[in-house]
Amino acid sequence: MSQHTMVTRFAPSPTGELHLGNARTALFNWLLAHRHGGRFLLRIEDTDAERSKPAFTAQLMADLRWLGLGWDGEVVAQSARGGVYREALAKLESVGRVYPCYCSPLEIEVSRKSQLAAGRPPRYAGTCRHLDPAQRAARLAEGRQPTLRFRVPDSGYVEFRDLVHGERRFACADIGDFIVQRADGSAAFFFSNVVDDALTGVTTVLRGEDHLSNTPRQLLIAKELGLVPPVYGHLSLITAADGSPLSKRAGAKSLRELRETGYLPVALANHLFRLGHSTDLNDLRDLEALAQAFDPAHLVRSPARFDPVQLAMWQKQAVHALGLAQALEWMSAYLPTGLDHQCARDFVAAIQPNVVLPGEVAHWASVVFGELPLPDADTAAKLATAAQVFSAAAEALRQHGTDWKALTTQVRERTGRKGPELFKPLRLALTGLDHGPEIAPLLALMGAARALQRLERLS
Ligand code: GLU
Ligand code: ZN
Repeated sequence: MSQHTMVTRFAPSPTGELHLGNARTALFNWLLAHRHGGRFLLRIEDTDAERSKPAFTAQLMADLRWLGLGWDGEVVAQSARGGVYREALAKLESVGRVYPCYCSPLEIEVSRKSQLAAGRPPRYAGTCRHLDPAQRAARLAEGRQPTLRFRVPDSGYVEFRDLVHGERRFACADIGDFIVQRADGSAAFFFSNVVDDALTGVTTVLRGEDHLSNTPRQLLIAKELGLVPPVYGHLSLITAADGSPLSKRAGAKSLRELRETGYLPVALANHLFRLGHSTDLNDLRDLEALAQAFDPAHLVRSPARFDPVQLAMWQKQAVHALGLAQALEWMSAYLPTGLDHQCARDFVAAIQPNVVLPGEVAHWASVVFGELPLPDADTAAKLATAAQVFSAAAEALRQHGTDWKALTTQVRERTGRKGPELFKPLRLALTGLDHGPEIAPLLALMGAARALQRLERLS
């Protein structure tokens, strides 16, 4: 692998289902790698044994595959890398860069609250920074399980250039000593995350803005270990369409839910591509084309709004772009049972331009194959003025079957009606609706007997 190869990664913690935010993170890292002919790695950050669940790992891998975001090489699971982290921690220990902290969660919390009450930003007070061996032994004897904290330099700055936020500078004095190993001996996020990025050759990390303030700590760790950290870009938050936090209530769905509702991966990718990333591409593109158009310089700092209306627009385009076989497959679970293969194909081809989600298939199935309810009073009044059309159409049906062309020609001759005058009442009579897919294939599918019955009751 050349030194210049772009290596990105997605590093989810398997503590829940993938949502739009982390799906976008995965997508952007994938696009960046593909843009540069590089590698996209998948790392499972499952060092928190209590919150991590293998089922979530399996689920998120399925979600990534569904989105089309395949990864390169083996999946790295942090839970299997305890030895790597212990070795790196030992290195820090040997130079006195980490020290055991015996403070209980309660003590930390009390200290945090009193700092906040005094109007100071809360950080670790340094309680255990200077304990001597006897004091440590005494705390151990009390049964306290220590964490390991990183000893942040007292002065100086951590500076870096963020791909989205530009030059950033953090004063060491503002960074409290932070935990690099939990009391149960597992490596903490700050630590394993940067160690793995460096050891697996990750060159660029795009991740959520919530991690921006973690970056100086991770750079301190890398520096102390002599590791080359990645370049970071911190992505703006995704909010709901009205700017409020993206939540279940605001209609934020997990990838699983979106998939189960029938959203197509390419539709989702096209919407996510435009969340926090400006582009002049305005039509639907596949992932490779999106990769060519992806540019970290176009990542924006302001929050990005997830808009279900936009998503529906991409979905509509994505459905239009499906070939018949794909459309058939996509709608298959929603087709009426007992349709023969040819009917199913014709039906899918007919309704495809009018369907955004497969749940709508049932509606068109009932329009074509079901029992049409009697028109309401308004509609009935409209239809009454066209009784002539219906009797002429019924006659044409008896003579020519469901040939739409022959039927409309004959009705036009008999009634002198043409254009909307002719087509509107016929559509309404045959489908109960004033809009919908092209009528010729619908008529063929509903069959002469059903169509006749629908016309005769009106003529
Ligand atoms: N496991 C972290 C998360 O899911 C990864 C953060 C990162 O990408 O560095 O938030
Ligand atoms: Zn302490």
